[in-house]
This record gives sequence, C-alpha cells and structure tokens, in this order.
Amino acid sequence: MLSNLPSTTWQWRAERGLSNGGQVLGYDLDPENPGRPIPNAEEKALLNFMYETYVEEKTFQRTAKMLNEKGYRTKLYTSRRGNVQGGNKFSKMTAQRLLTNLFYVGKVVHKGEIFDGQHEPIVPLSLWGKVQSIITANRGGARKFRKQNVYPFLLQGLVRCGNCNHQLSPTFGYNHQGRMYPYYACNRQLTLGKENCNTRYVPAQALEKVVAKRLKQIALDPNLISSLVTNTSNNSSLRLQEFTESKQVYAKNIADVKRQIDRLVEGLAEGEVNIRSVSQKILSLEEQKEQLESGLQDIEREIAQTKKKVVNAEKFSNTLTTFSDLYADANPNERKELMQLHIHQLIWTPNKIQMAIFEIPTDASFNVNQLNEGSMVGNAWLRR
Ligand SMILES: [Zn+2]
Repeated sequence: MLSNLPSTTWQWRAERGLSNGGQVLGYDLDPENPGRPIPNAEEKALLNFMYETYVEEKTFQRTAKMLNEKGYRTKLYTSRRGNVQGGNKFSKMTAQRLLTNLFYVGKVVHKGEIFDGQHEPIVPLSLWGKVQSIITANRGGARKFRKQNVYPFLLQGLVRCGNCNHQLSPTFGYNHQGRMYPYYACNRQLTLGKENCNTRYVPAQALEKVVAKRLKQIALDPNLISSLVTNTSNNSSLRLQEFTESKQVYAKNIADVKRQIDRLVEGLAEGEVNIRSVSQKILSLEEQKEQLESGLQDIEREIAQTKKKVVNAEKFSNTLTTFSDLYADANPNERKELMQLHIHQLIWTPNKIQMAIFEIPTDASFNVNQLNEGSMVGNAWLRR
C-alpha cells in the first residue's frame, strides 16, 4: 500500500518515526496503521534469543546455525499479492541484518538518517548495544576487547557528527602509543571513507565523562531546568502550529481527490467515457485518498503527542534532579541506561557539544574547553 508514495513522503514519514510498512521479523503489520507495526510476542522472544546467542557465539554464522538447529525459521507471511514468503533457514546474511537492525531498538532509518520510531522497541538497548560492540570488535580485530568485558559505550546512538550530521558510531582504534581505545567515529567516514568527513575519532571515555559532568551540572541547577521546560513549551506550540497547517493541506488534498473521483463516477454514469480506463483511474485515486487519510491520522497523532510532551518535560525535570545521585553509584550498564534515558541527542564538534534533553538541541550546549577536562582539549585528540 505504501510502496508508491513519492520520496518526499518517505522522508516525511521517517522524520515522524513511521516505518516503511514492510514485513519485519518481530512485528505484525497493522493494516490500520502500517507505519507502526505491532510486536509479535513469539517472534520477539526469538529475536531476543538470537541476540543472546550472538553474545555467546560471537559470529553471525554460528548464530544462524544455532537457530536453524533449534528449528527456527525466518518470518513467514503472505504478501499483498497473496504469495506465501519467508519461512527459510537463517543465513549468515540474515543474521547480520537482524542483529544490526536499529528498528528493534525503536529507530527508523531513511537514507542513512536515523529517527526515533513510533513503534515499540523489542530488544533491550543494553543487549542490542552489547551485540554492536562485539560486531565492532570483531570487525576491528580487537582481540583484547573481545576477551575482556565489552566496552559499554554509554552514549551509543545518541551522538551526531556536527560536520556531516551522520551518527557517530562506537568503534575501536589505536592511540599514539599503540594502545587500543574505544572511540566514537563518524558513520559516514567509517562506511564511505575518510574523504567524506574529516571529523576525528572521539575518545569514548573522555566524551562520556564531560557529558556526565554537564548533565550533573544541569541536574543541580533548578533555574536552568525550569527554563528548559519553558522552552519545551514554546517549542511545542510552534510545532503544533506547523502540524495544524499540514493538517489543513491534507484535508484540502483529500477533498480534491474526492472531487476527482466524483467527477469520474458521474462520467461513468452518463456513459461518456471508456469504462476500463476510468475504473482504473478511480482505483488509483481511491488508493491515493487512503494514503492521504492515513497521513492525516498520523498528523493527528503527532498533535496529541506534542501536547503530551509538554507535560512530560515537567515530569522529567523532577527525575533529572536525581540523576547525579543515581549516576555516582551506577555500574557501567546502569550508567548507559541513565544516559540513554536523559539525553535525547548530542551534536559533536571539536569545540562545542550541543546536548538536547527534552528534544531541544540548542539550549544545553556547552564548550568542550570550558570544562577544563585536559583529555578533551587540543592535541590530546587521538588520531585513527
Ligand atoms: Zn561526519
């Protein structure tokens, strides 16, 4: 139903966290709302078993083999044309695809950009992250890290490259002394090569330290928190205005399509036109109308969510004040959870980090140098 939407619509949908409506292991499509598939309990259990198996086995091949031996098969479904598809043995490739899919932690990816999805995550972020660290370590031949506990990468999935706007991904690299360290590195650079982005590798531990420090400062500053909440409210009312405008555009388009259909139907009734070609035209208009209507529903949902966000920001400011205490006593995995809970996004540049909590990118920005963290300044930047 969604495959013939124009590409701007795809972008629009992805930005709003709606999936492309395809079949994914772990979810069932909701015919009422194909952009937000519903978790399938049995498949969710299988996926989590798969992720846990990978943590044990550490290769795609052995993970696939293990699943096949237990009798598991890929998702079985009936296509729109009525063909039965899937139900195959797991291959190394399938395992790789499923084990690196951001969809399972609630994200939607469109042309390399990652957005918060509207669907429910079904693999815990900590487990997903653990798998990614092992994959990264395998890829980099990082034997040392493979043997030890895997580095938790507290800010995984939260940092964007200020240079090219792609995600910074966990990776491992060597410093001047040849010791291996965990880093965040620009994904565009990692996948397309150095000439595509010149952002240097960011040492993971140093970055995590300054971010935690900044978050603690914010948590201890009631004035700052209350101004963030106010900004969220202002920001939300702007968005609400935008949504209301797009709602009107949608309503107008729906009315237009309806009129076209009516006109064609009248023509048919009066026998003035070629029945076959007109019927087809009507069908395609009907389909367009359905898509527009589902888009309109999405906007209405957005409006409701934006209204809710204002309330949440107020609640959130209360939990933020406890961040400092919790963080001090937390183990690495708990720290990762705390970071993921409190930070919406970080935008990295060598001189400044922008931190978004409550989804406001600019208000909590801070200069790296201001923090007097020796390890984050100037020539301490490590080369790849
Ligand atoms: Zn970049």
